[in-house]
Amino acid sequence: MPIVERIPPRTADLGGGLSIRRALPTRQRRMVGAWCFLDHVGPLTGGSMHVDAHPHTALQTFTWMIEGEILHRDSLGHEQIIRPGQVNLMTAGHGIVHSEDSLPHAERLHAAQLWIALPYAEAQRAPDFAHHPDLPRWNTGTCQCTLLAGSHDGRTAPASLYTPLVGIDLHSVQGASLELPLRRQFEYGLLVLQGAADLGDEHLTSDEFVYLGDGNEHLSLSLAPDSRLLLLGGAPYGEAPVMWWNFVGHSRADVAAALRDWESGSPRFGRVAGDADSPRRRLSAPPWPWSGA
Ligand code: MN
Repeated sequence: MPIVERIPPRTADLGGGLSIRRALPTRQRRMVGAWCFLDHVGPLTGGSMHVDAHPHTALQTFTWMIEGEILHRDSLGHEQIIRPGQVNLMTAGHGIVHSEDSLPHAERLHAAQLWIALPYAEAQRAPDFAHHPDLPRWNTGTCQCTLLAGSHDGRTAPASLYTPLVGIDLHSVQGASLELPLRRQFEYGLLVLQGAADLGDEHLTSDEFVYLGDGNEHLSLSLAPDSRLLLLGGAPYGEAPVMWWNFVGHSRADVAAALRDWESGSPRFGRVAGDADSPRRRLSAPPWPWSGA
């Protein structure tokens, strides 16, 4: 059995009264492979999510929609509704802006929002957006598995990635016991999105995130009825990048330059069209946390 390091989530406010749980980064753990950010939104009834235009750099945003519908708009001109069972992947690279709004007729909201740090050589690549409605799915006994990202056991998800990593959604209505093959060179983390699970003697309930380390060849786990887990893995990233607000960079100077470009309205970031073709309201960054640049 892998060593299990429990990492308590912290709550964060996405604005508009929407409270979410953040599993990455935390003081205990900043990354799992190149996965550097993990927000768990919902599950909730009657809530809504509205995030005005904001920039990103040197990362990919990865949205896994479980319940509800969210409209993504970006400065490349994409307008894409994401529905349950689908992935949106936005590659920020040199710079992009987007907004996200849950649609009013969707009563339920449940999603995982992740970031993937781009490696140094890809950090300045051209921005891009892709919608992936069809993902590899299979059953292991009574567990429904969906490959969200990367490759697993001969299957490959469609998302374009720049570092070796994997993401798998595990869902069981009636409960399940399963053994998943792992890659020894990957480190892994597991988040309970709904319900409960047992990993050996460890009992995990909703929003518990555990780090499993690397060097493991398989993972044995049991899901309680009506449970859903998110398994993340990847090659250890090395030195963590600088992360501040919505920016990733490979130095504080990178992030400071991105902030200056955002605040000065530089064409680096472009604009997101709004409902009446006027630009969406732009979010402002919090105060710069470090003295000097
Ligand atoms: Mn964003």
